[in-house]
Amino acid sequence: MAILMDGKALAKEVKSEVLAHAQQLRAKGIVPKLAVILAGDDPASAVYVRNKIKDCEECGIEGVMVKLPADTSQDELMVQIARLNADESVHGILLQHPYPKGIDEFTVRCAIDPVKDVDSLHPENAGLITHDRPNFLPGTPAGIMALLDHYKIELKGKHCVIINRTHIVGKPMAQLMLQRDATITVCHSRTPDLTIFTRTADILITAVGKLGLITGEMVKPGVVVIDVGICKKPDGKLAGDADIASVEPLASYITPVPGGVGPMTRAILMKNTITAAVEETV
Ligand code: NAP
Repeated sequence: MAILMDGKALAKEVKSEVLAHAQQLRAKGIVPKLAVILAGDDPASAVYVRNKIKDCEECGIEGVMVKLPADTSQDELMVQIARLNADESVHGILLQHPYPKGIDEFTVRCAIDPVKDVDSLHPENAGLITHDRPNFLPGTPAGIMALLDHYKIELKGKHCVIINRTHIVGKPMAQLMLQRDATITVCHSRTPDLTIFTRTADILITAVGKLGLITGEMVKPGVVVIDVGICKKPDGKLAGDADIASVEPLASYITPVPGGVGPMTRAILMKNTITAAVEETV
């Protein structure tokens, strides 16, 4: 049976370190502050943002939600970002995904001041990751690396297969694992036969959002499975991409959904907000 990688417990540890750091900053008169922009009425996004604000409260960070209507134009969004960039009390800015229709993702990502870009999506920050000189490590990939390190899972010489090629997950994940001397394969929706790759994975990271995408026949015994996907089962409960019944008996380690990668992603966001507050106030 696989060992469950407890992201909830590790996130609690990270957040208590963040709180201690926030208290030190507050003692110096600096109140770390994160602004989360929520544009639109997506119910899942509203839950994610509320959870982030709750995390802020737990971590001694002031969290503010900037709620914008679903029909927010690109220009209106840019005005809000410019306002938050100019506000010296705001240290971190995050624009909740997905963005409203008609918004050009690249343009808005470029608009956020790189020193406040706690999601690490500005091209300058993304570029610095490829040079191993990050300002901020993006939440999900950094959270996964922290989990792998916590469970002492060696990456050097391992074959890591990542199913996702987005700027949020797959691309930075590949960079971070390359820097640890792993060999990387990145798969996506145009990969004709996933199994050819997944079967050779020592570490498999799946981030698709497709229930039951990964089955036992697709993995080799001893594989480490990092399940980023968030899917709904027919009974309404959350699950990941992996079919637990067939994958868990073969895996050496596996992240549960919920309680695996999700809490770590949010904990890293808190850590990044403190980093931004320190950087901006020195
Ligand atoms: P996304 O933008 O829709 O990207 C999905 C990725 O999966 C794309 O690279 C896509 O390939 C690939 N893909 C889609 N169908 C596939 C298939 N049948 N076979 C192989 N690859 C396939 O989604 P996202 O924002 O990256 O998120 C992905 C999942 O992770 C979602 O369930 C999301 O909720 C979850 N997530 C969780 C966390 C967390 O903290 N737990 C954080 C981020 C995301 P193409 O590039 O070819 O389209």
